Amino acid sequence: MTQNIFGQIDPPSRMLMGPGPVNVHPRVLRAMAADMLGQFDPEMTEYMNQTMALYRTVFMTENRWTLLVDGTARAGIEAALVSLLEPGSRLLIVRAGRFGLLLSEIAQRIGAEIFTIDIPWGEVATLKQIEDGIIAHRPNVLACIHGDTSTTMAQPLDGVGELCRRHDVLSYVDATATLGGMPVATDRWGVDIVTGGLQKCMGGPPGSSPITISDRAAAYIMSRRHVEAGIRSANTTDGTRARIASNYFDLAMIMDYWSEKRLNHHTEATSMLYAAREAARIMVEEGLEARFARHAAASRAMGAGLRAMGLTLFGSDEHRMANVTGVYIPEGVDGEKVRTRMREDFEIEIGSAFGPLQGRIWRIGAMGYNAAKHKVLLTLGALEAVLRQEGHGLVSGRAVDAALAEYGE
Ligand SMILES: *Cc1c(COP(=O)(O)O)cnc(C)c1O
Repeated sequence: MTQNIFGQIDPPSRMLMGPGPVNVHPRVLRAMAADMLGQFDPEMTEYMNQTMALYRTVFMTENRWTLLVDGTARAGIEAALVSLLEPGSRLLIVRAGRFGLLLSEIAQRIGAEIFTIDIPWGEVATLKQIEDGIIAHRPNVLACIHGDTSTTMAQPLDGVGELCRRHDVLSYVDATATLGGMPVATDRWGVDIVTGGLQKCMGGPPGSSPITISDRAAAYIMSRRHVEAGIRSANTTDGTRARIASNYFDLAMIMDYWSEKRLNHHTEATSMLYAAREAARIMVEEGLEARFARHAAASRAMGAGLRAMGLTLFGSDEHRMANVTGVYIPEGVDGEKVRTRMREDFEIEIGSAFGPLQGRIWRIGAMGYNAAKHKVLLTLGALEAVLRQEGHGLVSGRAVDAALAEYGE
C-alpha cells in the first residue's frame, strides 16, 4: 500500500498585514533552526538568564522575575490569572473589547468573583472610572488589556499601578499586541504583572509568552506554593491561601525553574526560547525609541493613505494603537471579497473583525518586521486597486502619495 507523505511544508510567501501573526524576522527564523541543548546544560541556562535580562529591557522594568511562559500569549494570561486568583477572589476587569472578555472567561473557570468596567468598543477607560470601580468593588486584583487588537485602541495606564497600590490591589496587564511596538512601561505604570506574545510587534512566531512579575506579586504567588491540595477560601482570616489550580501555569513553580534553584518543571521549549531571545535582541539592538518611532510612522502613513482613499478610520485618533488600524468597510463593498482579492492577487493578508465590529471594519496591521515603509505602501496600493476593481470609485495613486507625504517625501 502506498503511503501518502504529502508535500514538504512550503507556504506561499504572503505579506501578513493583519492583527497578527505577522511575518517573522529572518534572524528569528534562523535562530529557531539551531539544535537542542539539554535543559540544565550550562549553555542553555545561560541563554535563559540572557533572555531574562533582554526582556527586562523589553518590558522597561527592573523586575527580577522576567521570564517566558511556554505557549501562546494566552498561556501568559492564564498563568497570571490562575496564580493571582483563587476561588472567591475579587477581580475587577476593564473590558473594552474581545480580549477583556477573555479575561472574564478565564477568571470564571477559576471561580473568581468578577466585576467589570464595561467600555464601548473603540473607547478607553479613564483613571477616574478605574478608581471608582476599585472603590465600589474592593477587588483583590485589577486586570486590563493594554492594546486590544479587536478594537485597535490602547488603554492609557499611567497612574494605574499607583492607584492599585494605594488600594492594596494587585494589577495585571495583557500587553500582547503592543509589546515591541509601543512603550510597555511596566515600572513607570507600576503594575504587577504584564504578559505578552511574540507574534505581534516582537516579530516572532506564536508560541512563547514573555512575562514580568513585580516582587510584591511574586511574594504573594510564592505564599501559595506550599499549600496542599484541597481548596481553601480566599477569605480566610488566618492568611492561608488556596493552592494554585494549575500545574503547568503555576508561576511559583515556573519561577523556581527559572531561578538558580532550577527546580525541574516543564522542559523549556528550546526553539521558542531561541526565537524569543533573538526577537528581543533585535529590539534592543534597534533601540526602543527608534522601534516605537518606526511603528508610529507606519501607523500614521497607513492612516493617511486610508483617509486619502476617502475611508473612515475606526475609533479615536488619541487612543489608537500604533500598530494596527481599524478602518470602516465602505458602503456597498463586500469586505470578505476584498480580503480574498488582496490575498489572491497581491499575496497580502489584512484582518477582518469580531463581535460588534464583524463585517464593519478591516484591521490592517504594520507590526514588528512588517512595520516598514515599503510594506505600508504596497498594502495601500493593493487595497486601492482592489477597491477600484470592486467598483468603488477612487482616484488612482492618492493613497500611496499620501503615505509617502506622511513619510516626508
Ligand atoms: C493577539 C492577542 C492575544 C492572543 O493570544 P494568543 O494566545 O497568542 O493567540 C491575546 N491578547 C491580546 C491583547 C492580543 O492582541
